[in-house]
Amino acid sequence: MWDNLSLKEVVELTKDPFPSIRKWVKEKGKKVIGSTIPDVPEEVIHAFDFLPVSLIGTDKPLKKAPSRLPDNACSLARSNLELVMSYEGDLFDGFVLPQVCDTTQHLSDIWRIHFPDKYTECFLAPRQVDRPSARYWTKEEIERLISSLSNWTNRKITDDGLNSSIALFNENKKLLKEIYDFKKKNPAALTNKELFSLIKLSMQVDKEEFNKSLKRIKDGLKPQKGEGYTDIVLAGITCDPPEVYALFDEIKLNIVADTLVTGTRYIDGVVAQNGNPVDALVDRHMNRMFFSPIHDNVYRNFEEIKTLYKENNAKAVIYIHIEFCESQEYDLPDLKNMLRKEGIPFHVMDTEYQTLSLSHLRTRLQAFFESLKGGAL
Ligand code: SF4
Repeated sequence: MWDNLSLKEVVELTKDPFPSIRKWVKEKGKKVIGSTIPDVPEEVIHAFDFLPVSLIGTDKPLKKAPSRLPDNACSLARSNLELVMSYEGDLFDGFVLPQVCDTTQHLSDIWRIHFPDKYTECFLAPRQVDRPSARYWTKEEIERLISSLSNWTNRKITDDGLNSSIALFNENKKLLKEIYDFKKKNPAALTNKELFSLIKLSMQVDKEEFNKSLKRIKDGLKPQKGEGYTDIVLAGITCDPPEVYALFDEIKLNIVADTLVTGTRYIDGVVAQNGNPVDALVDRHMNRMFFSPIHDNVYRNFEEIKTLYKENNAKAVIYIHIEFCESQEYDLPDLKNMLRKEGIPFHVMDTEYQTLSLSHLRTRLQAFFESLKGGAL
């Protein structure tokens, strides 16, 4: 089902992958475990023979979530809760929910109350990864998850089984990275929307099948540099709705680097193979790129964005702010000041999962790049 998709079909499926996931699950007789982002080791879930599906919000109307989460809870959390409460909850046999901020802590409690009959486990990744105990803690958490899934399924996984899942997921990331690297140099070969749809769909469908589509798409790409593109760095956690990418495409922005959990932070999560798989998963966690609520150094966000901007010779940094994300709201004032002092053009776009009209974002983005071209920034 997902092994022979064209780029156009990928973009279409990314809008709403759930009907096709339902069909696939029915055909294969598989069970589905959903996870909110970030950092749940999906390879572990796959090794237990489940389909791991990342929950990345919905643009469908909010009906039930507002009565469970206040209006000033982040848009991603409200949207994910709505996705499972009103639309897709019955598809999932269980959930593994990371707790990385106050919102995700409350969210997992609400989830547990709302789905008493489903498997619900939390994944408590350490948020200060420079503490001496962080490595030990991460390993304990991964082993606790394995043991929890084992108790629930009455099955055990082997190192070989987990290493096979790691190899499959690594292959997915390697293919995505090759396509991303190609697109950076050939911005007219595929759009930003197409590239980030490939990444997002990878987080939601069966990789054994989807890797075949990725390989075919990669092999079919033709060099096309195009003209008039402006290279930018995209910073943030997620970038939704997908029409935001279409906006970038419309004004010929070429994303040459990003810090998104649904972007490079995902692709870069390749895990070392052939050693102890749990240790290798711990290494990945300790070495991952910056993510707003998880850090080892308060300057790291700024340093990473500055490095990406300079190394890629980008012309500006666009920051995607998810409405009411408390972590981003803590980061933003300092980040703005530090980037301004460096003379790096910086534009913040406020996004909301249920937004249908992007005209206000378009006007501001166009004005920002007009000023940039005119030398006013
Ligand atoms: S980190 Fe931000 S976007 Fe993610 S759940 Fe917490 S508040 Fe929401």
